[in-house]
Amino acid sequence: MKEQLQKLCEQYACPLETDIRLSQHTTFRIGGTADFWVDITCVQGLQALLSFCRSQKIPYFVIGKGSNILASDDGFRGVILHLGNRFSAIEVSDATITCQSGAALGAVARIAAEHSLSGMECLAGIPGTVGGALYMNAGAYGGEMKDIVVSCAYVTAYGELCTMDAKEMDLSYRHSIFEENAGVIVSVTLRLVHGDQKAILEKMEELLIQRKTKQPLEYPSAGSTFKRPQGSYASLLIDQCGLKGLSVGDAQVSEKHCGFVINKGSASCADVLALCENVKQQVKEQTGYSLELEPVILG
Ligand SMILES: Cc1cc2nc3c(=O)[nH]c(=O)nc-3n(C[C@H](O)[C@H](O)[C@H](O)COP(=O)(O)OP(=O)(O)OC[C@H]3O[C@@H](n4cnc5c(N)ncnc54)[C@H](O)[C@@H]3O)c2cc1C
Repeated sequence: MKEQLQKLCEQYACPLETDIRLSQHTTFRIGGTADFWVDITCVQGLQALLSFCRSQKIPYFVIGKGSNILASDDGFRGVILHLGNRFSAIEVSDATITCQSGAALGAVARIAAEHSLSGMECLAGIPGTVGGALYMNAGAYGGEMKDIVVSCAYVTAYGELCTMDAKEMDLSYRHSIFEENAGVIVSVTLRLVHGDQKAILEKMEELLIQRKTKQPLEYPSAGSTFKRPQGSYASLLIDQCGLKGLSVGDAQVSEKHCGFVINKGSASCADVLALCENVKQQVKEQTGYSLELEPVILG
């Protein structure tokens, strides 16, 4: 199997690495070893790899910047398909931006600002790729991907290249249809509006400062650890329950922002999961709210 995979990767010029540590590829800095890591460089390569994994029954997992992933301490027995820097072209045409899914959301937002295009100011500080952001329908400060996405191209689990309009994506709070259909997003088209460049840059800067002030960006994390429950905020509930600073090993409910579980050094996935279970249980008992994990579990 390894030789076949190597051949395919060579054929499509997609670099292949073996036995990589997932902790080096996730913002939580947690995770064991994955058998194979492929840097996707072209759509054809992705199509071929998906078909190969499917026909050979090899488990695979798609990753962008790894900023919403909690990877298992046992790692992953299969192939990680990475859509990142090597798949990140961005094109601007009037008020429309089309980018490959590995483009960083922040980079796209900066290019939008350079072209005096407004609509991404709220999203600029989210540390993921455009593909990951669409998959999660990422959002912040009152804006979300849903507001600006027009369409995307994706590859099905069978290796077929398809397109989809925004209205078919079932975008809602931290959800898209790609969670169900296993499609791998390869490009995303966004529609923005012409605006005043100075105002756009000022807004972006203001929100980035707000993030730095309020979020524990000095520690590894996967951002908000729990989804927002209907009718409240996870951070508010956790604070009310007196769980600020609660720890299991090196995993801690941030003292700066209760909605974040942070890695204070050598937290394991098991530590994070045990801490989250504890938090969920106490919040349920004390407030009646059920919290749900936001990061995707890998492995
Ligand atoms: C400090 C910090 C702050 C954050 N702030 C916010 C915030 O304000 N708002 C917010 O919504 N999120 C936030 N996040 C979470 C995270 O950045 C977003 O969810 C982001 O959109 C994930 O993108 P990614 O490329 O890192 O995806 P990954 O974490 O790599 O993957 C997340 C999921 O998307 C899937 N995926 C990734 N790329 C593709 C693709 N091309 N096709 C199909 N599926 C794909 C993966 O399989 C996985 O299931 C924050 C995270 C951190 C660490």
